[in-house]
Amino acid sequence: MSPTYDVIVIGLGGMGSAAAHHLSARGARVLGLEKFGPVHNRGSSHGGSRITRQSYFEDPAYVPLLLRAYELYEELERETGRDIATLCGGVMVGPPDSRTVSGSLLSARRWDLPHEMLDAADIRRRFPTLAPHDDEVALYEARAGLLRPENTVAAHLQLATRQGADLHFEEPMTRWEPYRDGVRVHTAENTYTAGQLVICPGAWAPQLLTDLGVPFRIERQVMYWFQPRGGTGPFVPDAHPIYIWEDAAGVQVYGFPAIDGPELGAKVAFFRKGVECTPETIDRTVHDEEVRAMAGHMSRCIPDLPGSFLKAATCMYSNTPDEHFVIARHPAHPESVTVACGFSGHGFKFVPVVGEILADLALKGTTEHPIGLFDPSRLAAAPA
Ligand SMILES: Cc1cc2nc3c(=O)[nH]c(=O)nc-3n(C[C@H](O)[C@H](O)[C@H](O)COP(=O)(O)OP(=O)(O)OC[C@H]3O[C@@H](n4cnc5c(N)ncnc54)[C@H](O)[C@@H]3O)c2cc1C
Repeated sequence: MSPTYDVIVIGLGGMGSAAAHHLSARGARVLGLEKFGPVHNRGSSHGGSRITRQSYFEDPAYVPLLLRAYELYEELERETGRDIATLCGGVMVGPPDSRTVSGSLLSARRWDLPHEMLDAADIRRRFPTLAPHDDEVALYEARAGLLRPENTVAAHLQLATRQGADLHFEEPMTRWEPYRDGVRVHTAENTYTAGQLVICPGAWAPQLLTDLGVPFRIERQVMYWFQPRGGTGPFVPDAHPIYIWEDAAGVQVYGFPAIDGPELGAKVAFFRKGVECTPETIDRTVHDEEVRAMAGHMSRCIPDLPGSFLKAATCMYSNTPDEHFVIARHPAHPESVTVACGFSGHGFKFVPVVGEILADLALKGTTEHPIGLFDPSRLAAAPA
């Protein structure tokens, strides 16, 4: 007889590990199935650092979720003793009318978030590594900073295990179907039944959620680590903020202080300059011309950063057409299936609150968190 669970969670990356934690903390009998090992680097939740911030340029609707995510990240650190969040402050830099600056300011004002506006001279004085053009400004947020993605996933897996969840690694779901009042899930080895299914597929969404009607675009992204000219001294997190920097053409780069000691440099990446890929076809090699393009771009903004190139790694975004998330009951299976996908390159800072929302949806069918923006019906293909 197959074991029976209250909830089966598919994918134990960022979102699925948080869901497994929040579900098991509420007493649900949880099975988590993951294609790879624990805390792997084949999806979207690796690379040592992720930006977090509250003055959210993407849309003010995200702010209440961010406020809750900050609380839950603090709780996660307290409960596991792991190093997860470093709130070193952050600057959103660009022309005043850029989305990065004007959108951040809109959210800050709408939600009365603490922030400061800096002109180019202020930026140079306060953060001497940054070299803005005279017509660039910044919104500075003291509560912005960085998160450790691997430690976050490990912490959620640790808590879920402690709370009795069964977590199976290297055991991908091959298919599932409705069964009695719930679902039946198949892997190569086993068949499991449960009342509820929560699917957190990351870049595998196009394969696992074909009937959702959302045209996902999976993108290859590259993270670069450089040893700054003159060393990491001015780049330590006590002195250096995280940054998102938009130029006059709308190209955004973002980066971090030197968080891993003097040898390992500082990380930087383009926010949205990816090539379409699939998890099977992604080119994991980072090419010399890509490194040259990044070094050239950064020599304009942070001239000392691209001293010498240390290493690079690839990662995947799962974009929706409007770059907003999909978090909902599955429209084709509203009684028993919940989905969280399409995080479009900005989901990590929400991981714990997404876990809480998924637990609400799976156990109660509804949530008090504001998730209207993430309804997949907004993206469903228009009838021909
Ligand atoms: C380079 C890069 C930089 C980023 N920077 C930021 C940032 O600064 N701030 C921010 O907030 N966000 C950022 N993001 C986005 C954020 O990291 C993602 O939105 C988030 O990690 C997505 O989590 P996920 O759980 O959806 O995907 P994943 O963590 O990839 O998890 C999906 C899991 O599903 C598993 N899986 C797939 N198929 C199956 C199957 N059949 N059976 C079982 N398991 C399966 C996969 O193996 C994987 O573990 C960045 C992303 C990248 C790539």
